[in-house]
Amino acid sequence: MNKYKEIEIGVLALQGDYECHKNQLELLKVRNRYVKLSKHLEKLDGLIIPGGESTTISKLINRFDLRDSLVSFGQTKAVWGTCAGMIMLASEIEENQAGVEPLELIDIVIARTAFGRQVFSFETELTLTLNGKNLKSQASFIRAPRIKRVGKNVNILATYNDEAVLVEKDNILASSFHTELENDTTLLEYFLNNLVDNLNK
Ligand code: GLN
Repeated sequence: MNKYKEIEIGVLALQGDYECHKNQLELLKVRNRYVKLSKHLEKLDGLIIPGGESTTISKLINRFDLRDSLVSFGQTKAVWGTCAGMIMLASEIEENQAGVEPLELIDIVIARTAFGRQVFSFETELTLTLNGKNLKSQASFIRAPRIKRVGKNVNILATYNDEAVLVEKDNILASSFHTELENDTTLLEYFLNNLVDNLNK
């Protein structure tokens, strides 16, 4: 039985590794569509904002006039941002000379690329605390952002060297790392299961 048959998930497809997210959704037989324009958000149950380059994603969000519809989508629907996607969900970006304009959907302060540049990218196994259970997941940190401050009421679901790397507030989930580059769907399944449970409440 396909427990995801009722839902459809969008993947913001302006720039970045959106194709990897699509592949993982296909693996779990989840209906999905790319979002490039506001109208593509219609009737979606959730959205994934991929990793990539937040400066570019931010500019394209403005160019394609997506900002207001993404913000209102994120006020009620499930959104998961990975890496650059997490930067886009943040409330504030430190030393933001590049002028990235985040969507301010979760109260976290971010430092871009603070885990180091490309040569310092790494893969590791993390323990994620998901619905009270500790689950292992492969995680890739690629020019990854650091979470410098976590707001009150924002839950920390995973740490790396005692720093928050996976956070959640209500319907918004944000990870500084990628899980979509491997076949590890642990975190995606968490995102989808919560979404399905909330729909059935
Ligand atoms: N450092 C990138 C940025 O600031 C994010 C890298 C990634 O998404 N893998 O946008």
